[in-house]
Amino acid sequence: MKSRERPEGPTTRKWQRQALGAVLIAALAALVAVGLWKTSQPPPRPHYVVLVEQPRGIMGTSCSLTALAADEETAGRALKEAESALREVEARMSSWLADSEIGRLNTAPAGEQVPLSAATVDVLQAAHKAATDTQGAFDVTIGPLINTWKQAGKAGKLPAEQDLTRARAASSWRLIELRAGGAVKKADTARVDLGGIAKGFGIDRALAAMKREGAIGGLVDVGGDLRCFGQAPDGASWAVDVRDPFGDGNLAELQVREAAVCTSGNYARYVEIGGKRYSHIIDPRTGWPAETAPCVTVIAAQTITADIWATALSVLGERGLNLLPPGVEAMVVLGRPADHRLLYTPGFEAMLKGPAPAGVVLGRERSGPPVSQPSPRP
Ligand code: AMP
Ligand code: MG
Repeated sequence: MKSRERPEGPTTRKWQRQALGAVLIAALAALVAVGLWKTSQPPPRPHYVVLVEQPRGIMGTSCSLTALAADEETAGRALKEAESALREVEARMSSWLADSEIGRLNTAPAGEQVPLSAATVDVLQAAHKAATDTQGAFDVTIGPLINTWKQAGKAGKLPAEQDLTRARAASSWRLIELRAGGAVKKADTARVDLGGIAKGFGIDRALAAMKREGAIGGLVDVGGDLRCFGQAPDGASWAVDVRDPFGDGNLAELQVREAAVCTSGNYARYVEIGGKRYSHIIDPRTGWPAETAPCVTVIAAQTITADIWATALSVLGERGLNLLPPGVEAMVVLGRPADHRLLYTPGFEAMLKGPAPAGVVLGRERSGPPVSQPSPRP
């Protein structure tokens, strides 16, 4: 065998090489053919189902939930869990509900420890930190001021100066002590209002629930504040409209992949006294409704962050843009309808789809349609 193998060896190997060469060429040709065939075919569409639901009675506003998943059952579960996450946050944190945790804290006497869930303590801690980060512009202890302005709106009369002074004195973090598992008030009159943060937290919780249930993409929108992730229904990024605060149309359209977008403004919620609109956002430093920025839109990774900064920038205006943490982008409308300015951070501008409205990008002028014109869509 050995002797036969020796002479045949090279021949066999040569044949093998030739045969192998032919096979390789054939395989390559086949691959090229498959490649050519593939490029001429549309890419295979990933299979997923999209479910949309608009549950009612959530946080006193509209709600729209979208879930994408491999099958209907998973998408349905994602929607159900997202909805119950939102309802749970509202039940715990609404200051409108007397038997919520915050409702009970607000009516508790000074010195009594009110038990709070871990979620409510987390939100209060985030709010406490935000008071420092925003130099006092975001302050959830302004419950007494909020109530004073609510009553003023109902009576159609500006609050008396001494009522405002009293409410300002009662609105302070010095009067709320956070403890593990609860909080203690140091004055009977202290009140907490999580209206500027709990919705953002709830949206984050709802989105986390969708992911946990196996959704491959989703969007949670509560009253225009929203967060999206993963696969969008049309396969591309999620499109988000930014409303024009002075007109009926949209100011701009954003294209985002994984982000939270929150808008604060006095065009939707305000009280009218003596023919003048007063914002529902209060400047904690003066006790008066904020007037600087009628509309602010903030983009951040988490909704709780975007929610906080949209409210804070409504108070701080242009100056607040310097305080924004890394990764938080904003657009601020300053002034009145007839005499307004638009400012945005470069990161915000980068997420605009189509022509950007006229404004200033951190000191850089740019042209575009005026603010009250709806943006043409490409
Ligand atoms: P948003 O619409 O998210 O800006 O939240 C506004 C709500 O937050 C108001 O209706 C109040 O409940 C509350 N709020 C008002 N002013 C402030 C403030 N300066 N800091 C924190 N929360 C505020
Ligand atoms: Mg908000």
